[in-house]
Amino acid sequence: MRDVVILGSTGSIGTQALELVVERRDQFRVVALAAGGSNIELLAQQVLDHQPAVVALTRAQAVQDLQLALYAQASRRGWSAGEMTLPRILAGPDAANQAAGLDCDVVLNAITGSAGLVPTLTTLAAGTTLALANKESLVVGGRLVTEAAAEGQIVAVDSEHSAIAQCLRAGRAEEVDRLILTASGGPFRGRTRAELVAVTPEQAMQHPTWNMGRVITTNSATLINKGLELLEAHLLYDVPLERIDVVVHPQSVIHSMVQYVDGSTLAQCSPPDMRLPIALGLTWPDRVPGAAQPCDWSAATSWTFEPLDNDAFPAVDLARRAGALGGTAPAVLNAANEECVDAFGAGRIDFVTITDTIAAVLDEHVASASSASNVGVADVPSDRLGATHVSSDRMDLDTVLAADRWARERARALTSPVS
Ligand code: NDP
Ligand code: MG
Repeated sequence: MRDVVILGSTGSIGTQALELVVERRDQFRVVALAAGGSNIELLAQQVLDHQPAVVALTRAQAVQDLQLALYAQASRRGWSAGEMTLPRILAGPDAANQAAGLDCDVVLNAITGSAGLVPTLTTLAAGTTLALANKESLVVGGRLVTEAAAEGQIVAVDSEHSAIAQCLRAGRAEEVDRLILTASGGPFRGRTRAELVAVTPEQAMQHPTWNMGRVITTNSATLINKGLELLEAHLLYDVPLERIDVVVHPQSVIHSMVQYVDGSTLAQCSPPDMRLPIALGLTWPDRVPGAAQPCDWSAATSWTFEPLDNDAFPAVDLARRAGALGGTAPAVLNAANEECVDAFGAGRIDFVTITDTIAAVLDEHVASASSASNVGVADVPSDRLGATHVSSDRMDLDTVLAADRWARERARALTSPVS
């Protein structure tokens, strides 16, 4: 029996994880659920289905709504008030983080965005296995996260990184030549930059192969998701950025590859279904029988590959640049992107302005450091903390969070209409 805490339980990854749990109640027990609070009815349903001891709600105002929803749904199920044990409800900005620190075997971090960073660090500090879907926390925290993790404590849930972990079992670290990340190319594959200007948020939400949350779906359309994944792979598997490639594979059946020094390339394939890497994330290194459907080898099929068009989709190059700078640069890249995703979704900016704005904010961040390679926290005046690039070896959590806040402000200023 594995005790699990699921952060982001009402999202795309969270709900799929709970589907797996429902089918395997003899294998998994849900200790706590955490969500933002925008879908109270679903959260209440999950609480009644799984009876966790704790439920964490970031939006504290939603606590009463959750209690009411719990009673209403319980009565619809024919349960009397006395029959129901209410979970302990944690509420407020630190609630998910408190849930991350609970005693359990594995925390699945499936929160969206840099809000996942502190819960990631708390999970690692508690010594619990971290099944990591929230790639942003790794990208933003960089070495703060990798250095807090014991060997094997972070298990990737992202399909590409799960694929790489599986392929890495075939050889020794020093035999690895390159990592090859596959990308579907998103809904706008094949378009030029000029053609991308007029695409709408609704079109960006039409992902060809995956059904995911709003932010990652938009990120897959710009390909900043692949840029974040490049940094994620570098941090998880300690392979230099120059030895990680991205190739477009529209069918999303090969989830990524590892090329070994003798010219052998290993690929992991399965039809696109996150239940496979989620299940593996919860039980690594063991596999969960029947977690997902395998490939059908009886039907004619073809898998194709093409290079990424970096002119139309500059996001991977931008991430490479932020990764090479290290320190606070990836946090700035991510925060500027999160703000731009909102601005694009709200119709305030067009599609290509997402990556243009990220580049502008990153430029500003780096330009404000007099010598980017050796600026440390102590050298930065307090009113410039966040605005100034701080290198990896000298940053701490406060510096990263300040960089995140600063980049959000700058991105918001650059994407707001001039009044
Ligand atoms: P969703 O938007 O579908 O779900 C996000 C979840 O996080 C919701 O439960 C949401 O709750 C919760 N949440 C958001 N902000 C907070 C917060 N501040 N505190 C607590 N909970 C919060 O996202 P996805 O499931 O698509 O993605 C989750 C993560 O997994 C992302 O990092 C994404 O990049 C990664 N990922 C997702 C994949 C996918 O197939 N979906 C594939 C690979 C990686 P509420 O709705 O109440 O706000
Ligand atoms: Mg992925």
